[in-house]
Amino acid sequence: MSSESDVIIIGAGSSGLSAAKELSRLGLSYTVVEGSHRIGGRAYSEEIAPGVWFDLGCSYLHQAHANPFVAIADELGIPVAKDKGDLFEDDRIGHYRNGRPLTEEELAVHNRFWEECHSAIEASVTRGKDLAISELVDLENPYCIPYMAAMASLNTLDIDETSAADYFDFGGGQDIPVPNGYGNLVATWGHDVPVSLNTKVEKIDWSGPGISAETSKGTLKGKTVLTTVSNGVLNAGDILFNPVLPDWKQEAALGLPTGTENKVCVHFDRDVFGPDGRGWHSTWHDSDKTEDHAAGFEASVMGLNTGIVFTGGRHAVWMEKQGQPAFEDFAVSRIADVFGNDVRNHVTRSIATAWTSEPWTKGSYSMATPGNAHQRQKLAKPLNDRLFFAGEATVQTAQATCHGAYLSGVRAAGEIAAVLT
Ligand SMILES: Cc1cc2nc3c(=O)[nH]c(=O)nc-3n(C[C@H](O)[C@H](O)[C@H](O)COP(=O)(O)OP(=O)(O)OC[C@H]3O[C@@H](n4cnc5c(N)ncnc54)[C@H](O)[C@@H]3O)c2cc1C
Repeated sequence: MSSESDVIIIGAGSSGLSAAKELSRLGLSYTVVEGSHRIGGRAYSEEIAPGVWFDLGCSYLHQAHANPFVAIADELGIPVAKDKGDLFEDDRIGHYRNGRPLTEEELAVHNRFWEECHSAIEASVTRGKDLAISELVDLENPYCIPYMAAMASLNTLDIDETSAADYFDFGGGQDIPVPNGYGNLVATWGHDVPVSLNTKVEKIDWSGPGISAETSKGTLKGKTVLTTVSNGVLNAGDILFNPVLPDWKQEAALGLPTGTENKVCVHFDRDVFGPDGRGWHSTWHDSDKTEDHAAGFEASVMGLNTGIVFTGGRHAVWMEKQGQPAFEDFAVSRIADVFGNDVRNHVTRSIATAWTSEPWTKGSYSMATPGNAHQRQKLAKPLNDRLFFAGEATVQTAQATCHGAYLSGVRAAGEIAAVLT
């Protein structure tokens, strides 16, 4: 680990790695310190069965038309499923209430409700308001149950805690899966960046002309520091700053909490979905029981025998606390809602994520709370030409994504170069 550099980069996720590569291109020196034992951060793939990869964090190349990882994958010869980018288009999604598919009339009413929600959000944001989504939608509508579950899973917070403006700000585009894992793609792309692993930054002193960073492996000196850690980590006070961060910066991080999306990948010993079952399914019950909670799941998207069940917000935190067997049971029940109880006999293995208790992120990804959509810009602002900020939470329109994090690293490297050269 170099003891003196132009930039100390905290974190080797997508943003820290892209910043390192860009600094190198700009002729500046850096030291990347990573608290965990691996690079990639929230981009992380695990093999659930031989040759079958599950992404615990990012899995879709969102906004594929503007996503730099599409070209990176092409350059590295890593396949991406460009023909499967239509998964979330309306006509590809199945809807199941109390274990049976919606009729055409019900589907029309369901779709109209979603359109009304979208129009109400758009109208409110256009008027310059930043309200909670729950203030804008008809909570009594029977189709609000799957709507709330889908929104919580997408946004990581429940709709009463979600800024309509931040949600609306997200740019659209295709969502392309990566057959061998988005996490593997990021790890392959980032492997040439020298990183000091298992090195936790505990304290940043930016009181003098330079920076001193106390880590679990000793003190580092640098001209600047770039922090890429999640707001979950920042808000928990895991890194002490001397002097403390100004109030407006702390408010920006607090207004963009790292909420929770959790997933359970269930692997089956055979194709339980059939050729017509592949796709996205939304399932819910008219019941107050937590075990009947609504959820969406991906069925065998890559033609493999897996179902991946998604949940977000308070339910995701609660499921995480119940532990792996309860989470698997919940996930298998949702898959059984659509494909029948026989699926229970074919489960070989499951992996459930637990992002709230993950010490290096303390949550899944950022979402603005009502009134705080504007904080992303403030979070990105440097302090005293010494302390710089990148990471998914500092991004607008591609916020909360892996490629947004990448772009933030490039942006921050440019800001640093402008100061140092
Ligand atoms: C469940 C889930 C699903 C997602 N789905 C998608 C998706 O489909 N598509 C998409 O584009 N994005 C998705 N995302 C979001 C995407 O994964 C993240 O936005 C992106 O990976 C964040 O990158 P980052 O560099 O900002 O942060 P991170 O990846 O969190 O990197 C920060 C690094 O800092 C390290 N660190 C923390 N504290 C310290 C410390 N004190 N000292 C040293 N190092 C420290 C961490 O270990 C981490 O490696 C998903 C995320 C989750 C959790």
